[in-house]
Amino acid sequence: MSRKKLPNVKTQLYIDGKWTDGGKGTHPLHNPATGEEIAQISKANKEETQRAIDAAEKAFEEWSTWEIQDRVDMVHKIADLIEEDIDRIALIMTLEQGKPLDQAKVEVERGIEDMHWSAEEAKRTYGEIGTAPNGHKYEIKKHPIGVAAVITPWNFPFSMLTRKLGPALAAGSTVVVKPAAETPLSAIVIFELFEKAGLPAGVANLVMGDASKIGKVFTDSNVVRKLSFTGSTAVGKLLYEQSADTMKKLSLELGGHAPFLVFEDAPIQETVDTLVAMKFRNSGQACTAPNRIFVHESIKEEFTDALVKAVKDGVFGNGQDDGVEAGPLINQEAIDSIDDQLNDAEEKGAKILYGGGQLTDNDLIKGTFYTPTVIDDINEDMEIWREETFGPVFPLLSFSDEDEGLKRANDSDYGLTGYVFTKDHRIAEKFANALEYGAIGLNNTGVAKPSMPFGGFKHSGVNREGGHEGVDGYLETKFVHSTYFE
Ligand code: ADP
Repeated sequence: MSRKKLPNVKTQLYIDGKWTDGGKGTHPLHNPATGEEIAQISKANKEETQRAIDAAEKAFEEWSTWEIQDRVDMVHKIADLIEEDIDRIALIMTLEQGKPLDQAKVEVERGIEDMHWSAEEAKRTYGEIGTAPNGHKYEIKKHPIGVAAVITPWNFPFSMLTRKLGPALAAGSTVVVKPAAETPLSAIVIFELFEKAGLPAGVANLVMGDASKIGKVFTDSNVVRKLSFTGSTAVGKLLYEQSADTMKKLSLELGGHAPFLVFEDAPIQETVDTLVAMKFRNSGQACTAPNRIFVHESIKEEFTDALVKAVKDGVFGNGQDDGVEAGPLINQEAIDSIDDQLNDAEEKGAKILYGGGQLTDNDLIKGTFYTPTVIDDINEDMEIWREETFGPVFPLLSFSDEDEGLKRANDSDYGLTGYVFTKDHRIAEKFANALEYGAIGLNNTGVAKPSMPFGGFKHSGVNREGGHEGVDGYLETKFVHSTYFE
């Protein structure tokens, strides 16, 4: 087996069309599968962050007034360049984030779709003429919102960014991006392609470094009209608060704690396979990952046996190796946080049926791998019931009554995604209506599509990305009332 080294890729900030060393030195980047240092990444200071905002402000004057077809052509061109470069981008993502190469590729493909779809959707940005009395005209106009600040997480470092950049750029916004410190290269590659595509200087800028300091420059700025953030609920709440003073428009896509309900008539093996695939994806480090698995008591034993077998068969390893289904967790803190949740659950009566603890086989000890884990009998008193579990852990419980299942599934501050598996249309419809989650999978887990709105109820966020709402998030609405002198 031959593993590849980091391909040639920039490591600097990108401000006003120029690659720039950061004023705060560099920070090391590690491969979570091996612990090896793979690059040193430039860190921006406050002045550089401000300079990026200024560049975006200046570029907005022209970019926002381009003929829509020209902007759309530019976004399509960027998508085409991404497609040509997919193998390099996927490898870079695997090296810094850990996910298997095939999953990295799927993520890049998703990013390409985001760009194409947003470009086409932005093309159809129309105003309206309202009904008005004689001598009056009522118009509704749509305007690009202005400079948008974009902050993204490490779990889907490419598609979380394209999901914002596609609609922002196509709609006529200019942007300043701050990616997660763990995965800057997956953002840098997009900026390399912006340059190659000929995106005008200042339209998209990239800063990296101290998250709270950069975030504060963004939120304090009156020029930044929109903040789009994907990440933890804790940081989302902080940014919400910090944005009050400058009254920013916000898109916050925050944590989830998805219930996954399996009724007695669901095909057991098929449902187990879907669950395991969804939970092994990105090693469970996804806000959409099922986190509380409700299984009807009549099938609980059979379901649990099939689940434990499938989990035992899971292949964890270096994302570059053939046949690997799941990679490492992002860092040691991620391991510690899962250990804490499992210890707490066990102390309160839950039973670990399989797994638990760091994976230490062979050279996996050098990385931050977690043993896939099945834990049974979780309940409301446990941390695992309330808090996201960002790892390959399957927390099980049984239910007997539909309404009890529904009530308990809704017992969460989070409200991002929920899943229901049943052949009974009445139950499926009832749960689709009553689950307090922003996206529901009925007999599937495909809840994030470029053409459909994605986002959460309750503490899972504010506003939606994708679909019409995704593009609309980068537009302001204006009403113009005209009357005429004789
Ligand atoms: P996670 O727990 O998934 O790492 P975070 O919410 O901590 O989620 O991180 C998501 C993004 O938010 C990252 O780009 C991170 O650097 C950034 N971030 C973290 N803290 C702050 C902050 N105080 N202000 C602005 N951005 C932040």
